[in-house]
Amino acid sequence: MPPPPAANVLALQAQLQASERWPLPDLRRRQFAQLALLLAHADAEAPLQHGRLRASGYRGAETDLETFWPHIPILTRAELQAADDAAFAVRLPPGHGKIGGSATSGSTGMPLRLRKTELAQFMADAQALRLQSWHGLDFTATLAGVQHDPSGNSAYPAGFSAPGWGGHAGAAFATGSAHRLGVPTPVAEQAEWIARIEPAYLVSFPSNLGGLARHCREHGLAWPWLRSVFTRGEVVDPALRTLCREVWNVPVVDCYSAEEAGVLALQCPDADCYHVAAESVLLEVVDEAGRACGPGETGHVLVTPLHNFAMPLIRCAIGDYAEVGSPCACGRTLPTLTRILGRSRARLLLPSGERRFPYNPARIFSRYPAIQQYQIVQRSPELVELRLVVRERLGAGAEADLTNVLANALGHAFPLRFVYVDSIPRGPDGKFHDILCEVPEPD
Ligand SMILES: [Zn+2]
Repeated sequence: MPPPPAANVLALQAQLQASERWPLPDLRRRQFAQLALLLAHADAEAPLQHGRLRASGYRGAETDLETFWPHIPILTRAELQAADDAAFAVRLPPGHGKIGGSATSGSTGMPLRLRKTELAQFMADAQALRLQSWHGLDFTATLAGVQHDPSGNSAYPAGFSAPGWGGHAGAAFATGSAHRLGVPTPVAEQAEWIARIEPAYLVSFPSNLGGLARHCREHGLAWPWLRSVFTRGEVVDPALRTLCREVWNVPVVDCYSAEEAGVLALQCPDADCYHVAAESVLLEVVDEAGRACGPGETGHVLVTPLHNFAMPLIRCAIGDYAEVGSPCACGRTLPTLTRILGRSRARLLLPSGERRFPYNPARIFSRYPAIQQYQIVQRSPELVELRLVVRERLGAGAEADLTNVLANALGHAFPLRFVYVDSIPRGPDGKFHDILCEVPEPD
């Protein structure tokens, strides 16, 4: 895709600066005006959505959309996968640009084919630039990423280098250089590469940054040129924020996104929450009965990307959970989320039949210096396996102690099976899953 003209990028940024402070009813009215266009298009051009909309009582322009909306059934990933080509629009209205294709596997290992328009990508890039602006990035500084790169062009020791950042920042501003290294690179080699680049900003998966920070702490490496780390693709634990402060004295800036839905929410620069990217997506959080959650409640994340007409997703459950927040004191009126529990973070099945997210296990493991990496895997309703990469094996006393303190975090005193391994592989999407549950969830 050619770089967008600077004028378009800057005009959109100015619009986003205005809309992030609109009164909520105005924001919602504009979202529903865009939803009306999306639904009319999906009804006419996307066979999967046509069937679903008509079955739930959609009658085109006559429909009172705000009343009708909660009656649209939730779209599951399994339905989307089964629909295959029927999920794609046959034709596009003018002005949406070319269609790009990709695939995502999620944590299930079941690939899902995706299509995205240039317009949807333009909005996603605009939200990414907005996050950089909120957090006061110096665009002339050096940027480095340790990322998933299926092209294989960013192998150690050289990695891949470009003279500018690219994307919307590169289109609108004079930028510093950008560098990329493939995330499968061993941590010590990553650290060596980063020290050679001396970036001001480092982008990676949270799990990888945790490994790098521990490596730096252990080897007494100081990175004084580093100003912030940027994360996306996995859940950020509060423990990672503390670790990055301790080791590098830098903040973690997180972007919540999903391959199938683009940018969903951005970390607030002034408060401890995320703002929904409401100009790009209608994001709902609903409980098990499908009712909207209120502040302080955690539920399923449903997304309706507003601009991707190539593959209309309407109330799609992407498998993540989030906690709804209250209005933010920063003055931005965009809705807030206080916690995001991504799909890399599976829920465990308790003997009571309840499903629960383990509560901050990273904090517990951080108290055991011998443990370099962990993965919690529920193998069956009764058995939880703890896979550990260690400097030295834990003694029987330490294992018993860890079993005890983990009971609280896991929600039940599971008997733990300790398995010592040399490494814990990433999933096919390049992401690291610190908690896996092999007991299937009901759909
Ligand atoms: Zn805020």
